[in-house]
Amino acid sequence: MKNYKIDSRRIREITTHAYLPVEESLQFKTDGSCIVYWMSREQRIQDNWALLSALDESQKRNVNVIIAFTLVPQFLDATIRQFDFMLKGISEAQMTAHSLGIPFHFFLEKDPAKAIVSFANSVNAGAVFTDFDPLKIKLKWKHEAALSLRCPFYEVDAHNIIPARFISQKTEFAAYTLRPKVHRLLPEFMTAFPIITPMKSKATLPDVFDVQNILKKVKVRKDVQPVSTFTPGTSAALQHLDAFIKQKLDHYHVKRNDPNAGYVSDMSPWLHFGNISAQTIALQIQSSKKDKESIDGYIEELIVRKELADNYCLYTSDYDNFNGFHAWAQTSLNAHRSDERSYLYSQQQFEHANTHDPLWNAAQMEMINTGKMHGYMRMYWAKKILEWTHSPEEAQAIAIYLNDTYELDGRDPNGYTGIAWSIGGVHDRAWFERPVFGKIRYMNANGCKSKFDVKKYISIHSTENKGDSLFP
Ligand SMILES: Cc1cc2nc3c(=O)[nH]c(=O)nc-3n(C[C@H](O)[C@H](O)[C@H](O)COP(=O)(O)OP(=O)(O)OC[C@H]3O[C@@H](n4cnc5c(N)ncnc54)[C@H](O)[C@@H]3O)c2cc1C
Repeated sequence: MKNYKIDSRRIREITTHAYLPVEESLQFKTDGSCIVYWMSREQRIQDNWALLSALDESQKRNVNVIIAFTLVPQFLDATIRQFDFMLKGISEAQMTAHSLGIPFHFFLEKDPAKAIVSFANSVNAGAVFTDFDPLKIKLKWKHEAALSLRCPFYEVDAHNIIPARFISQKTEFAAYTLRPKVHRLLPEFMTAFPIITPMKSKATLPDVFDVQNILKKVKVRKDVQPVSTFTPGTSAALQHLDAFIKQKLDHYHVKRNDPNAGYVSDMSPWLHFGNISAQTIALQIQSSKKDKESIDGYIEELIVRKELADNYCLYTSDYDNFNGFHAWAQTSLNAHRSDERSYLYSQQQFEHANTHDPLWNAAQMEMINTGKMHGYMRMYWAKKILEWTHSPEEAQAIAIYLNDTYELDGRDPNGYTGIAWSIGGVHDRAWFERPVFGKIRYMNANGCKSKFDVKKYISIHSTENKGDSLFP
C-alpha cells in the first residue's frame, strides 16, 4: 500500500462530546508504540477504509497496526444463527490479517468499551481507530471508550461510499432529498481501493480464536439455528457477487420484485456483517457492461436507499420507535388507534406463522428457513403486522423483534428504516386515508398477485416446511 492519500472527509475525531472533522494531520500520543484498529461493523481486511486509514497513519509514525475485535456475548435480538455467521466471517478476517503480518486479537467481553480501553493501554496505543455505525448501542460503546482512552480516537466511515456525517448533517426527508447529493459527490468518493500487501514488520501474531468454543460461550437463543443458504466470509461474498453479475444482473431491473424469480443479489447478509464493502460491489457493478437500467436500479438500492437508512438512524435516535415517524404519520396513526382490526395476533402467533393469511405465513417461513426474506415480501409482511395488531407501537416492536431474530441481515439501519417506512411512512408520502393505516401506504395480496405467482411462493415456503426444532 504505497502513496495513497486517504480522504480525510471519511475521518472524525471522537471526543467525549462530539465527532469533529479532521482539518489537518491526525494526532498521536507522543510515546505511543502502535495503532489499534477496533474493528466492529466492517468485518473484513481488504477494501476497508478504517483499516486503510490506520495503516496509512502507522506508516507515517513508523509503528505497527494491531486489530482488536471485542465480541459481546449478547447483542440485541441476535441468535446463534447470526453469531455463527459472524464468527466464521471474523475468523476468515483474522487469518487474512495474519497472512499479511497484521496481528488480530479477539476478545469475548461483556463490556466492549472497557475491553478496548484496557487493550489499548496494555499495548500503549498512540491512537485508536474504529469504523462508523449509526446504531445507538455502538454510539454508546464509542462514547464510553472516549471517556477513558488516553490517546486520540478516530472514527472512519468505511460503510457508506459517501461518508454519512459528511454528506448530510440532518435527517433527510426522503430519497429525493439525498439522491442529488449522492450523485453529485459519488465521482469524488468512488475511488479504487489500495491493496494491502504483506507487512515487513515482525509483529507477534496472537493465536487464532476457536469459533466453536466461542459459540458455546455466547448467551443467545440456540433454537434459531444457523442456515446453510449463505456461506459466511469475504471469499464467499466475492464469489457470490461475481456469479450475480455474470448470471443475474442483466435481469435485475425487470425481475427484482418477483420473489420466485431469484434475481435479487442476496448480498445483504455479507453487507450487514461488513464481509464486503458496498464500494467494492458498486465498482464491479458499474464496470460490468451489463444492462444500464439494471445497473442504475441496483446502484439506487445499494447506495441511495442504503445510505439513506444510515442517515435516518444517525440523526433520528428514535429510529426504532413511534417518535421517529414524521408528524403527519403520527397524527394520522393516532387518529386511527381505535379503528376495529379484522384480525388480531400476538407476537407468538406471528412468530409461529399462524395467521389466517397463507401469503404472510409463507413470508415468515421464508425468513425462518432461509435467514432472508425477499425484499418485496418484507414490505407486505411489515404492513400486515400493522393491520393485525392493537397499535403501531406494538406492530413496530414485533416487526423489529422478528426481523432481528431471524434475518441474517437484521439489527441493521436498513431494517429499522424499512420497518419505519412500512409502518410509519418514513421517507414516504401521505396516501389516501383508510382504516387502521390512516395515510400510511397500504398493501394487499392483490398487489402481490399482480407482481408474481403468489400460489407458487406459498407452495415453496409453505408452513408445512416448519423446521423440527422450531416451535414443536
Ligand atoms: C420491513 C423491511 C425490513 C427490512 N429489513 C432489512 C434488514 O434487516 N436488513 C437489510 O439489509 N435490509 C432490510 N430491508 C431492506 C431490503 O429489503 C433489503 O436490503 C433487501 O431485501 C436485501 O436483499 P438483497 O441483498 O437481495 O437486495 P438487492 O435488491 O439485491 O439490493 C442490493 C443491496 O441494496 C440495499 N438495499 C436494497 N433495498 C434496500 C432498501 N429498501 N433499503 C435500504 N437498502 C436497500 C441492500 O444493502 C441490498 O443488499 C428491509 C426492508 C423492509 C421493507
